[in-house]
Amino acid sequence: MLQHLLNLFFPKSCAGCYAILLSDEKIICTRCRHEIPLTNHHLLIDNEVMQKFYGRIPLEFGAALFYFHKKGIVREMIHLLKYKGHEEISELIGNWYGTQLKEIELLREVDFIIPVPLHKKRLKERGYNQVEGFGKALSATLEIPYDDQLLIRKLHTKTQTKKDLLGRADVIATVFEAAFSKEHHDKHFLLIDDVITTGSTLEACSKALLKIPGAKISIVCMAMAHS
Ligand SMILES: [Zn+2]
Repeated sequence: MLQHLLNLFFPKSCAGCYAILLSDEKIICTRCRHEIPLTNHHLLIDNEVMQKFYGRIPLEFGAALFYFHKKGIVREMIHLLKYKGHEEISELIGNWYGTQLKEIELLREVDFIIPVPLHKKRLKERGYNQVEGFGKALSATLEIPYDDQLLIRKLHTKTQTKKDLLGRADVIATVFEAAFSKEHHDKHFLLIDDVITTGSTLEACSKALLKIPGAKISIVCMAMAHS
């Protein structure tokens, strides 16, 4: 009743097009739900995500749910999720994708769902990791544990002996490390992130995980940049 009254005075709007949501619509309206650009990657073994990482990392399975365009529903949703505090969008996308990915046989042998970690500073600013809700929803649907402790993101300052062309002596680089123990040996890790663009962060994370003996990697993301 209270929620009903609140909605009356502060109606929720669609994260895709800002139309007022009906009482049975959650986060995005029915029209946006039908118009959102789906990749259908889960239906193709040799899809664009797999192709993106050819020759970079050996992937067991790779997929993203939506196409991310410079304008449109997906961009609006991701923007609200990352910069406007709408953490609930993460879980919605996870539940959506979870029902599709449940059909993928390869994913039944996954042992851990691993989110791309945020810098501590960014985590403090935002208050949440934007992929956590997505990962936990996938974890519940696929019945695979979610582990946000294994992969660590570090800012690494290298002092170089020779100065570079700009005269800077220090180079700051992001380094990922896997804090693994024997229980992580011979496991299949499902790495998750929001949007795949160049894939360089996912590549760096995968390389850190591949230092674990017998590790296998799969990647699932909310969206993939598409021109
Ligand atoms: Zn809409």
